[in-house]
Amino acid sequence: MIRSLEAKYSRPESSVKLLAVSKRHSAASIRQAAKTGITDFGENFVQEAEGKIAELVDLQLNWHFIGPIQSNKTRRIAENFDWVQSLDRKKLAYRLNEQRSIEKTALNVCVQVNLSQEFSKSGISLESAETLGKLVNDLPNLCLRGLMAIPAPEKNLDRQRKSFAELALEFYRMRELFPTMDTLSMGMSKDFEAAIAEGSTMVRIGTALFGKRV
Ligand SMILES: *Cc1c(COP(=O)(O)O)cnc(C)c1O
Repeated sequence: MIRSLEAKYSRPESSVKLLAVSKRHSAASIRQAAKTGITDFGENFVQEAEGKIAELVDLQLNWHFIGPIQSNKTRRIAENFDWVQSLDRKKLAYRLNEQRSIEKTALNVCVQVNLSQEFSKSGISLESAETLGKLVNDLPNLCLRGLMAIPAPEKNLDRQRKSFAELALEFYRMRELFPTMDTLSMGMSKDFEAAIAEGSTMVRIGTALFGKRV
């Protein structure tokens, strides 16, 4: 599916990576998915994820934290995850940097941008993304990888494309300043076609992959 959309929108082959969003799905389903070659999984809840990460440690998967970050959970995020895609406050960046063990590789970070304030409280404004990105870039135990956003639900493909295009523009601009940025994380089960059309390099798919969450 992703490969055919890459072709449809003249994107290079394999330029879009799949992040399998496994929240509220079992370790057994993740193991099954990993057998098909999926290496990256996204989780929204620290407690729920920790059990699965421990159970699947033999598979050497990459774990992405994609849910709202509570400041009292940053230590467990810094210890258990490889990526955090939902960073939207300075204070959380400082805490994650301090709590990331120097024995591990830097924690990969995407700054979460809020494309529609009416729909969501999470994410920083597009105008403030660069300032937060610069902070992440300056902290030694964090590595700035890109931007992530969850636009308001929208059925129309052209309107979906419009908000993804805004994020993409800021991504290309910031990438000139911060060369470690290689990840434009946008597109979920209902809008990944529009996201791929607008330059997404990582789609976060839950329902379309694992079925409905229980
Ligand atoms: C749950 C979630 C997804 C996946 O959503 P689906 O519609 O099931 O594909 C993607 N990104 C984030 C941040 C999520 O919380």
